[in-house]
Amino acid sequence: MPHANLQTTITGSLPKPAWLSEPLKLWSPWRLEGALLKEGQEDAVRLVLRDQEMAGIDIVSDGEQTRRHFVTTFIERLAGVDFQQSRTMRIRDRYDAQVPVVTGAVERQEPIYVENARFLRSQTQRQTKFTLPGPMTMVDTLYDDYYHSRPKLAAAFARILNAEAREIAAAGIDVIQFDEPAFNVFFDEVRDYGIETLERAAEGLPCKTAVHICYGYGIKQNTEWKKTLGSEWRQYEETFPLLQKSKIDQVSLECHNSQVPIELIDLLKGKDVLVGAIDVTTDQIETPEEVAATLHKALEYVQPEKLFPCTNCGMVPLGRQVAVEKLKALSAGAALVRQTMA
Ligand SMILES: [Zn+2]
Repeated sequence: MPHANLQTTITGSLPKPAWLSEPLKLWSPWRLEGALLKEGQEDAVRLVLRDQEMAGIDIVSDGEQTRRHFVTTFIERLAGVDFQQSRTMRIRDRYDAQVPVVTGAVERQEPIYVENARFLRSQTQRQTKFTLPGPMTMVDTLYDDYYHSRPKLAAAFARILNAEAREIAAAGIDVIQFDEPAFNVFFDEVRDYGIETLERAAEGLPCKTAVHICYGYGIKQNTEWKKTLGSEWRQYEETFPLLQKSKIDQVSLECHNSQVPIELIDLLKGKDVLVGAIDVTTDQIETPEEVAATLHKALEYVQPEKLFPCTNCGMVPLGRQVAVEKLKALSAGAALVRQTMA
């Protein structure tokens, strides 16, 4: 039976087994190919489902075991983007990367993750969540030599994402989440077109819709950036009021070990809040009491049936055992809080 209050979930990704890709590394290449790769990815999904179920996670994901990168793996399958070309681009105003080039109209020629969503649905009795990149974050990982307009390219991606998301929802997925770390950087763009394109991507979906906004994985570029943000991180203050007025059902945010003032959650009144109570930038395992403390603080601003204990961000860069222990801590912390409410 799922819990009535404080249903636990995760942001999305989990570490992959070492036989599938090199561990402890972001965007690590696959160690299998062709039919063996597909079989390996499906086996890995079975394992991460088992880990989540054993840890007591209520709303489970496929751990993104079929993706190398949360944005690029999706874009690779689209027409209009040339991966043979590359240009240097500043990603989220933080670091330079070699990125592919948009050379024509972007189009989805075939379903991208729909088969993966069906497989996830077939392998568990629990509620399921599926993640997709958000349109603004997709724009921010490409050099645009065709639309010459970030809003226009974002709108084109939103249409593609919506077609994909409708098919994923039809596969029986309960929550579709769009990952928009770029929302924490480009506040004017969020206001000017980010919310609108996000809503377009989520339009007409019969399932719950979510957006994840975070301060990123524990990579050096992100930790250096965090040092520049001061003693209080108030980035969410810009976006939450806009999201509160939007049609998106759930907002996933980073709380534990961050400098985000917890009262900013109040700006999301009426929304489901996925409260990040697990730090993904350290191997240190949270105690159930630490998780409970974060949840208690959040409960001052959000009702228990609207509070979903979650991780701060994806857990893909962590070791497998660390990730499993963190899942258990999340679950145990939520259980402690439920006891105090009984
Ligand atoms: Zn994140």
